[in-house]
Amino acid sequence: MLNGHEMKTGPSKTYSIAIDGPTGAGKSTLAREIAKRLGCTYIDTGAMYRAIGLYVLRKNILSDDVEKIISLLPEIRLSITHEGDGQHIFLNGEDVSHEIRTAEASIYASNVSKIPEVRAFLLDTQRQLAEHSNAVMDGRDIGTVVLPNADVKIFLTATPEVRASRRYKEMKEKGMDITYDSVLEDLIWRDRNDSTRSTAPLKQAEDAVLLDTTELTFEESVQKALDIIYGRLGTLSPPSAG
Ligand code: C5P
Repeated sequence: MLNGHEMKTGPSKTYSIAIDGPTGAGKSTLAREIAKRLGCTYIDTGAMYRAIGLYVLRKNILSDDVEKIISLLPEIRLSITHEGDGQHIFLNGEDVSHEIRTAEASIYASNVSKIPEVRAFLLDTQRQLAEHSNAVMDGRDIGTVVLPNADVKIFLTATPEVRASRRYKEMKEKGMDITYDSVLEDLIWRDRNDSTRSTAPLKQAEDAVLLDTTELTFEESVQKALDIIYGRLGTLSPPSAG
């Protein structure tokens, strides 16, 4: 189903790094940077839920119309490519990488992600993507459900206020018309929605390392994450060593 994905094959076993955490914890920025430094693939699973949410939104279907949403799944074809500027996601052939980032698409993503059939629809694909290449995968249930045997699991968090102010700054820089209060409200709503669903709720895996970035700069967070990764993947050479 997913094609265009650059596979890295080789004689050695691949490794996988799972990064989970609540909305706005900085998972994707951190995961992308780590993937860059390690020279491995970054897989953003939230983009897949967002693309399905966008499809439902475009069809003018309410995001709680579960039966209707399930009936649409066979019409949805997702593909992922990795280019210089990162992951691109295609919905039935159309690059929707930007459109999936709107506030409305976020709400739809969170609501469709509660549906077990939607999660099952994406599960195999997510596993296959991580199986064939060294990968850093971020989401909500990577360490608990998608890759329970991941070599490294990090649960990334920060206070809601710090998460909201970072996200607000980022969205403002992109020229989006948004207020801090609306960002905080959306974040708290999504945290609750993602943590209380019955299938694959957001939670820290028992063997995940908690990384709280409330007091950390981005570079400090990257360093701490790399320390955790090198601590677990003893055989992995630091990038500077080649
Ligand atoms: O990570 P991002 O905010 O882009 O994800 C959008 C939504 O997709 C989340 O709010 C969450 O509801 C859902 N999601 C999920 N499981 C994942 C990744 C994302 O349920 N592994």
